[in-house]
Amino acid sequence: MSGISPFPSGVSLVGAGPGDPELITLRGYRRLQQAEVLLYDNLVSPEIVDFCPSTAERIYVGKSAGKHSLPQEAISQLLLEKAKTGQRVVRLKGGDPFVFGRGGEEMDVLLENGIAVEIVPGITAALGAAASFGFPLTHRDYAQSCVFVTGHLKDHSIDLNWTGLAQPNQTLAIYMGITGLDVIARELQAAGLPGRTPAALIYRATWPEQRIYPATLATLPEVAKTYAVKPPALLVIGEVVGLLDRQHS
Ligand code: SAH
Repeated sequence: MSGISPFPSGVSLVGAGPGDPELITLRGYRRLQQAEVLLYDNLVSPEIVDFCPSTAERIYVGKSAGKHSLPQEAISQLLLEKAKTGQRVVRLKGGDPFVFGRGGEEMDVLLENGIAVEIVPGITAALGAAASFGFPLTHRDYAQSCVFVTGHLKDHSIDLNWTGLAQPNQTLAIYMGITGLDVIARELQAAGLPGRTPAALIYRATWPEQRIYPATLATLPEVAKTYAVKPPALLVIGEVVGLLDRQHS
């Protein structure tokens, strides 16, 4: 392919995709090859990190549920500091940088300081999970909408519009929903979503160790407990989950 775009001025904020190294975009791959400094998260596979030259400075700034290795402000400041050196800086995030990735906050800090930001989109976890396990997120007969939701607990409660989420013919892709699973399952049923609605917990979609745990809305907490499902896992609820690829069940 002709015309490899040169590294833009400023920082390139790249989505790594859901895990499988082949699921990064061509532009993301090229930015990594051009990188002099790389700041990356814990949801990024080591093979993707290795796309950058061995001479590049690699800085792990990962966060995992409950354990922040570096506070968000510190990450943004570090990014800013590196950008000011004039080196080619790549900020690599799991999935898509603008889907629950706090990419917007990092972008704001950079822009406020006069640093340009390029966004390279990535395949978000829900898309990776649907593709890996062969169920569509929308379907003419079963789901006319798909909602990306965060189940992240703030002060031990989840402040979501349960009635809006408990609608028929809708797929819910809930990120960071493992710790709040009991609340989510309870509130959705209280808001009218039937307990028999198909659901699944999907651990590390597109990674070699990926697993799917099929359930129903009512049995979700029990399934999560039985199999001790841990983050990173995505929770998908809706009739489309009933179409799970026969190859994987
Ligand atoms: N920006 C990311 C989401 C970051 S929030 C994206 O677009 O995908 C982190 C949450 O994403 C995890 O707690 C988990 O719910 C979900 N997640 C990320 N990668 C995943 C994967 N490979 N499989 C399942 N869930 C994943």
